Amino acid sequence: SGKWARVIEILKAFEEDCATPIAKLRQVADAMTVEMHAGLASEGGSKLKMLISYVDNLPSGDETGFFYALDLGGTNFRVMRVLLGGKQDRVVKREFKEESIPPHLMTGKSHELFDFIVDVLAKFVATEGEDFHLPPGRQRELGFTFSFPVKQISLSAGTLINWTKGFSIDDTVNKDVVGELVKAMERVGLDMRVAALVNDTIGTLAGGRYTNPDVVVAVILGTGTNAAYVERAHAIPKWHGLLPKSGEMVINMEWGNFRSSHLPLTEYDHSLDLDSLNPGEQILEKIISGMYLGEILRRVLLKMAEEAAFFGDIVPPKLKIPFILRTPNMSAMHSDTSPDLKVVGSKLKDILEVPNSSLKMRKVVISLCNIIASRGARLSAAGIYGILKKIGRDATKDGEAQKSVIAMDGGLFEHYTQFSESMKNSLKELLGDEVSESVEVILSNDGSGVGAALLAASHSQYL
Ligand code: ADP
Ligand code: MG
Repeated sequence: SGKWARVIEILKAFEEDCATPIAKLRQVADAMTVEMHAGLASEGGSKLKMLISYVDNLPSGDETGFFYALDLGGTNFRVMRVLLGGKQDRVVKREFKEESIPPHLMTGKSHELFDFIVDVLAKFVATEGEDFHLPPGRQRELGFTFSFPVKQISLSAGTLINWTKGFSIDDTVNKDVVGELVKAMERVGLDMRVAALVNDTIGTLAGGRYTNPDVVVAVILGTGTNAAYVERAHAIPKWHGLLPKSGEMVINMEWGNFRSSHLPLTEYDHSLDLDSLNPGEQILEKIISGMYLGEILRRVLLKMAEEAAFFGDIVPPKLKIPFILRTPNMSAMHSDTSPDLKVVGSKLKDILEVPNSSLKMRKVVISLCNIIASRGARLSAAGIYGILKKIGRDATKDGEAQKSVIAMDGGLFEHYTQFSESMKNSLKELLGDEVSESVEVILSNDGSGVGAALLAASHSQYL
């Protein structure tokens, strides 16, 4: 019927608007490299903040002692303690507790969020066993992973530039987040020193390097997305401090805020952005990260329902609820290999209350998942390729290639197989067969928590 023809028309138009042929990926990568230079040249010189992390040495493996870590970055909040045994014994023991952040705290008052965090932390400290023995008189030390854009003042202090990923708490902006944490600790009498403030990319880079000396880039693909890498200190014109002994500085790119005329954006992306808490910001993040992929799918399905009666004469009311289709559900549908696509059918039923869906409708849903996930995955690969170009690891030198390892973390990369496979294949396509041999992408699962503890250890007051 004419209605179905309209469904296919919407599908095809969306596919075209999302297309990422290799030439386009190269343009995106080049734009990324250009913006990296601009962001390193001057403060505010680019949409890419290219934040100086104050981490000029990554873990060596010699770190020892007992440290806490705290990870606040999106959906979940984790507290952790680690016992580090040095080169021989490595991570001797590790315990953690995870809680989800109550949604009302994401848009409330600063002190409420930090009180919640410290409450979980204090309860966790109270369960410290004999194995984690602290010498008498010694203060507990903590690495704080806070995965939002922060202007660092030192390794252990920094002010929040803006929130992302659905958080919006006005009275934290421009405040030192370590100060906020310490005040909350004081309110409950918890005595702990915050030795390092990092974000998840820096933590992942540190944790990745601890297990693999060739790690030079870290990328997060979770609720949000971001990347960090090791830069040569003299390639950072905006750094006016002393050149670090190592000659290196870790840069937190905040690449989620990247945008470029080369990015394939659709009408759905524009409306998602306008309806978001941070319109105009985090454009790359809004087309590749886990918080948004399912929401893009919902928006396309809504258009099909409204303009082409995709779900029949009435538009399913649930389909009008923003963020009702989560990315894990999208990935479950996308992975459906049953002949009648029964997972797709049951998700449509459970989430959107569509009782009956035909096979051809389910196939359209799979096509949409594929279009959305491929675009995100291929653009992530382009971003990584841009970083490798910036640090001269995109080509062999005198016939020899330096080994480069990219440490990945985040639920999207970890659990969405079609996404991660597509990302890795696209990166190979961009690098070519020869250079691909020397570039490895590894999952550095929970490197970020251990990484923060390692940085706390290497910046302990007792060294
Ligand atoms: P955060 O980024 O909040 O620190 P994670 O790294 O654990 O947390 O990533 C969680 C995000 O990963 C979720 O918000 C979701 O978008 C995505 N995710 C989790 N599981 C899956 C899955 N099975 N398929 C696709 N995406 C997933
Ligand atoms: Mg995380």
